[in-house]
Amino acid sequence: MDYEVIIIGGGPAGIFAALTLADLGVKRVLLVEQGKDLPQRDHQNPEERLCGWGGAGAYSDGKLTISTEVGGVLTEFMEEKDLLQLLEVTDGIYADHGAPDRVFGEYTPQLEDLADRARLADLELIPDRIRHMGTDNCLSILGRFRESLAGRVDMATETTAQDLITEGGSIRGVKLSDGRTVSANFIVAAPGRSGARWMKEQADQLKLTTRATSVDIGVRVELPAPVLKEITDTTYESKLIYYSKTFDEKVRTFCMNPYGEVVTEENAGIITVNGHSYARKKSDNTNFAILVSSAFTEPFDDPIAYGRSVAQLANLLGGGVIVQRLGDLLAGRRSTAKRIARGLTRPTLPEATPGDLSFVFPYRHLLSIIEMLQALEKLAPGTCSRHTLLYGVEVKFYSNRIELSRDLETQVRNLFAIGDGAGITRGLLQASASGIIAARAIAGRITGN
Ligand SMILES: Cc1cc2nc3c(=O)[nH]c(=O)nc-3n(C[C@H](O)[C@H](O)[C@H](O)COP(=O)(O)OP(=O)(O)OC[C@H]3O[C@@H](n4cnc5c(N)ncnc54)[C@H](O)[C@@H]3O)c2cc1C
Repeated sequence: MDYEVIIIGGGPAGIFAALTLADLGVKRVLLVEQGKDLPQRDHQNPEERLCGWGGAGAYSDGKLTISTEVGGVLTEFMEEKDLLQLLEVTDGIYADHGAPDRVFGEYTPQLEDLADRARLADLELIPDRIRHMGTDNCLSILGRFRESLAGRVDMATETTAQDLITEGGSIRGVKLSDGRTVSANFIVAAPGRSGARWMKEQADQLKLTTRATSVDIGVRVELPAPVLKEITDTTYESKLIYYSKTFDEKVRTFCMNPYGEVVTEENAGIITVNGHSYARKKSDNTNFAILVSSAFTEPFDDPIAYGRSVAQLANLLGGGVIVQRLGDLLAGRRSTAKRIARGLTRPTLPEATPGDLSFVFPYRHLLSIIEMLQALEKLAPGTCSRHTLLYGVEVKFYSNRIELSRDLETQVRNLFAIGDGAGITRGLLQASASGIIAARAIAGRITGN
């Protein structure tokens, strides 16, 4: 065998698998990443935001959510208390590599008071313990991971894994885009959301059992930071859940960025919106997403195609991301550059096209979003201001779930699938933890422990 272990994907899941294998003394490990190496990545280029050494996490806001409930479904593979312990260990590794000491969201009387008032507004507040790295710190922390791996793990960047090769029900190797076919005893597939399509193709070829999950569709809301200051000072990131009046549909806030910026992101040719905040650089605004989750049964069961179609409509009408003032949306008219300029919320994504989101969203999504904003107004007056900006479309695609054992091994022996690409995680900490789970299992098999 050319290698003992090949890891496909240099995101948090792949990196933590590599770090764990190296720390457990496993030699001859290759990490393959289709995008550029960390120092060469250009975050201005939307195509490079999700791909490259460091994965989608590199330019992420770097919020490490220390929660078994958020960012993945690893509780399906281990006891909750064991997972919490593993997440603490994983978080500790980030801290050892330079993540700031402060953890937000620890219990306080203010938090309890906020949760009580949320209940009066028909909202459920789910506080999470969060360590915030900030997009600027993320890069230096990833740089330290890379230094720690240098010399212990071989790394091939700008190299795509094309086809997985099996023999007699076991993994044997992988064909790479540089023409090489490399053999290995173990393969860990960690291709992230950007590699979800590739993962699905491979799963189909290898006849692995998979199932579709859901898609979250919504808007990125931007408003002056003082409107949400009490919430963001108390919890840093509040997850608020609401069941919409008309459709009784679960709507939630996601990824709150105090003093942050709204950004675009490209996903296989579609421009969508996202947000982040820096640890040092501050804007005057806070942004967060309001997402509505949709799952389908039959005859249609392709949530990714559905989410892409909605986002495509915004791209068709606006050439990318559309921005609209809430006041314009409620008055049934489009936003124009002049109206946005007159608004009191200054957009941090000036290149978004002023337009009309009611041409983009299905009725149930738009109504659920408006109803949630109205509920939020009761908790944080000012949320429903006419000047509040809504950017669309924000979409969270989740990869197909691949059937996995407790070690995160697929039905092909010695082929492991981890992270967002396997459909089992949705955030940095659980993705990283999934890398540790698979690597520990592999190291155990190699050493016979
Ligand atoms: C803008 C943004 C902000 C975010 N903010 C947060 C946050 O604050 N907190 C949080 O917890 N999460 C956040 N996330 C989510 C988080 O980044 C992901 O959950 C996490 O990166 C998943 O890790 P992963 O290793 O599974 O996949 P990824 O990070 O997507 O990495 C997968 C890597 O595999 C590579 N790859 C794919 N296919 C192949 C192939 N065939 N061959 C070789 N390489 C391949 C890709 O290029 C990619 O680099 C954010 C995401 C985005 C996009």
